Amino acid sequence: MDPTKTSQPSEPPSAPWHALPPEAALERTQSASEGLSEEEARRRLERYGPNVLHRESRNGPLRVLFRQINNPLIWVLLGAAVLAIALGKVTDGLVVLAVVVLNTLIGFIQEFRAGKAIEALSRMVPELTAVLRGGRKVTVSAAELVPGDVVLLGSGDKVPADMRLIEVRNLQVEEAALTGESVPVLKQLHPVEADADLGDRSNLVFGGTLVAAGTGTAVVVATGGATELGRISTMLDEAVDLQTPLTKALASIGRYLTIAILVVSAVLLGVGLLRGYQTSEALLVAITLAVAAIPEGLPAIVTIALAIGVQRMAARRAVIRKLPAVETLGSTTVICTDKTGTLTRNEMTVQALWTPSGAWSVSGVGYAPHGHLLEGGVPVDEVPEAARKLLRAGVLCNDAALQQREGTWGLTGDPTEGALLVAAEKAGLGVEELRERFSRVDAIPFESENQFMATLNEDGQGRRHIFLKGAPEVVLRRCALGDGVTGAQVLAEVERLAGEGMRVLAMAMKMVSGSHDRLELEDVAEDFSLLGLEGMIDPPREEAVAAVRMCHEAGIVVKMITGDHQKTAESIGRELGLQAKGAAVTGRQLAAMDDARLAEVAVSTNVFARVAPEHKLRLVRALQAKRHVVAMTGDGVNDAPALKQANIGVAMGITGTAVSKEAADIVLTDDNFASIAEATAEGRRVYDNLIKSLAFVLPTNLGLALILAFSVAFFPIQQVAGVLAPLMPMLPTQLLWINLVATVALALPLAFEAKELNLMRRPPRSPEEPVLSRFVVVRTLLAAVLMAAGAIGLFLWEYRSEVARVGHEVALREAQTMAVTTVILFQIFYMLTCRSLKGSIFKLGLFSNRTVFVGIGVLVLLQLGFIYLPFMQRVFGTAALGWEALGLPVLVAAVILPVISAEKAWRSRRERRRARDREPPRGVPMGPRVPA
Ligand code: ATP
Repeated sequence: MDPTKTSQPSEPPSAPWHALPPEAALERTQSASEGLSEEEARRRLERYGPNVLHRESRNGPLRVLFRQINNPLIWVLLGAAVLAIALGKVTDGLVVLAVVVLNTLIGFIQEFRAGKAIEALSRMVPELTAVLRGGRKVTVSAAELVPGDVVLLGSGDKVPADMRLIEVRNLQVEEAALTGESVPVLKQLHPVEADADLGDRSNLVFGGTLVAAGTGTAVVVATGGATELGRISTMLDEAVDLQTPLTKALASIGRYLTIAILVVSAVLLGVGLLRGYQTSEALLVAITLAVAAIPEGLPAIVTIALAIGVQRMAARRAVIRKLPAVETLGSTTVICTDKTGTLTRNEMTVQALWTPSGAWSVSGVGYAPHGHLLEGGVPVDEVPEAARKLLRAGVLCNDAALQQREGTWGLTGDPTEGALLVAAEKAGLGVEELRERFSRVDAIPFESENQFMATLNEDGQGRRHIFLKGAPEVVLRRCALGDGVTGAQVLAEVERLAGEGMRVLAMAMKMVSGSHDRLELEDVAEDFSLLGLEGMIDPPREEAVAAVRMCHEAGIVVKMITGDHQKTAESIGRELGLQAKGAAVTGRQLAAMDDARLAEVAVSTNVFARVAPEHKLRLVRALQAKRHVVAMTGDGVNDAPALKQANIGVAMGITGTAVSKEAADIVLTDDNFASIAEATAEGRRVYDNLIKSLAFVLPTNLGLALILAFSVAFFPIQQVAGVLAPLMPMLPTQLLWINLVATVALALPLAFEAKELNLMRRPPRSPEEPVLSRFVVVRTLLAAVLMAAGAIGLFLWEYRSEVARVGHEVALREAQTMAVTTVILFQIFYMLTCRSLKGSIFKLGLFSNRTVFVGIGVLVLLQLGFIYLPFMQRVFGTAALGWEALGLPVLVAAVILPVISAEKAWRSRRERRRARDREPPRGVPMGPRVPA
């Protein structure tokens, strides 16, 4: 924040905020219990600036740069450069140095940009907060809060600024962000000692802390940099860790590779010396090998592929909060998802009313006794008394609001509650008027755990009523039934409506004395009279049906875990194709099971109903015990433990609480199940492409190492200009050229490769599958040997045919140029085959990834420069080749195409055969399996 703007009301306090009574705090902020007006809020925003903290990135340039340099492969290269210069090979040494610098720079730029892109994602999920402005509840971005704003806090919210509480109901706040103490603190209203510690200022809430339970109202006393959190330090951005299991695996492969390369280099040095090389020449060969065998470009490629994946997922409404999730998504075997709003549209419409004295169905335009739909609204005096009382309770015990915006009706608040308002309006009951007539005195808000909401209202005659609405079982338990209705009858009606897929709410009411002005839990424990039931439909999202089908094809099991009624859950589960038969398992049944039984049920059942958050945690654990990789959605504050436990925690961007978002690996900006399914597909693609890059890069390095080793061991030694020198097919600088230029130009496009055709028709990858799978190793060996053989063969052929005509020196240059060109062409053809790991590239569409051809085009131009530009010839020791001499490397390099095609064909035939006579491999779920 701008330091000139910190003269907030909190600055020159005569008495600190926590020593003031609530009214005095309101007064000092020049606010009132109905909040600021919109104009005043705007004025204050200008004066105090936005409510944001100055953030410092953990991915600052220096840190990223350090990560590039802090890499054993880089050290080996640096050592090689120094050694080369010491041996008098100054050009070679300088080129190696230049490459190290260039490579560090490329890696730095890419990783820095990737880090920034990923950080930017966090801004895609805005922090919103509910405030009173001019007495109306509105939702604003937390950044717009100003001192004096009156904020409404609910469980799961992140406290947006420092505030003095003016009303609390069992408000518990977790202040770990500030005090490190993770046990929630119970808040209260009374002033405390002026010198109380931060942790003891129990009538204040601090920005950055989390509401663990209860509700509260508070007036903002400090925003942005003036808050406690802002004062402690400029907050570090949440660490955007660019490491994932894959990058870690690659880093460890890199370490082993370095050791292996050093050993082989030493062996080569020994062999060279034994064969009579001069020491400096032998050393140079060893250095050359190190340069050749190190996959310099790999780290940058991995980061870029991950960053591309993250950005694509964000475009598809799945915002990654933790990078490893990108990979884990690809091996997800089970998705456990909420129902309401995720699988269904969360567009609730009341369709049925039931009271002890009659039942009605509500049509789109009106309502009518069962079976008779009326056209048009119904005058209120024609609505039976019982139905009117039921609808009235639904309006009063309700926090939603209908508002007319630009000619259409919009809803703020919970769609379940909105439906109740619409139903009342359809019956001619004016919502606004009812709410004025029965003013609200107090309320117990809805929480998933309680499954009910209650309000205390006073009518015009000073009589006070408690209205109760919630899940039928919960409400019924609190009712004294009379009027010839039994509990069993009510429940039968509930089952009937729920069986049609409806969400059913029950309403009840009781009178209390006129002096009653607070609602406590014991006030709503008993003695209610049942008013009736309202049943509402919430149709499945069309795209969810398709997404479930896609998951099934991909061997991913989808499980619905809902707080709704068992019959409702079963009916929706059938519509979505989750579970055709068999009953849904309820939370209560889960609670009665031991872990072993639970694990079985967790695997065999796909619909769970009346589930509480603590059951979710057990379900995740049970599935993980059966070796599943679990993605789990959640929105409430109590879902956080399950989200953390799941391999992929998925939070809802729209309806989710701040607490659930902080615990999640992914936030869905549209709350839609289809977005999770898309993200798993994207996760598979990213992993595929990384393996493609790896399968492309490794053979080049191995191939180059083979070329060197072979020539040191077997090539003739020449006496040139008085020095015993080996006949080397490539110079160190040329090796670097291949290693860096070709790798970057060709491997990068693979990161843009589209989804493979069978991507979502094959079972999930086992998370235990090593990065260097047998497949990658075999492919690497095959390609490396072919490449080495081709390059060595053509090198010898060119040298032999030219040496008599142009002499040793020129012939060697030409032959070396030929060898390098062969390898580069070889890489071009090989890269084409890598576009699909196991399938034919013709099926994939030869031109389906344009970047591939951009890469090839750039490389061909560069290579022509390498061969023909005098400047390049000087630096790299190359020589111009005749055009006809270029045809040969093209032919030889193209051999890789049929060879890899044959290998792929053999592999897919073998896999098909295996799939036929084998059980699913370990770690793969029981989902429907479709042959690849
Ligand atoms: P899902 O887990 O599939 O998203 P859900 O989150 O909608 O389901 P909850 O919100 O926990 O499930 O609701 C559980 C039950 O509580 C509902 O079946 C309903 O009976 C009751 N209920 C839901 N919303 C309200 C509300 N606003 N007031 C009172 N009762 C409610």
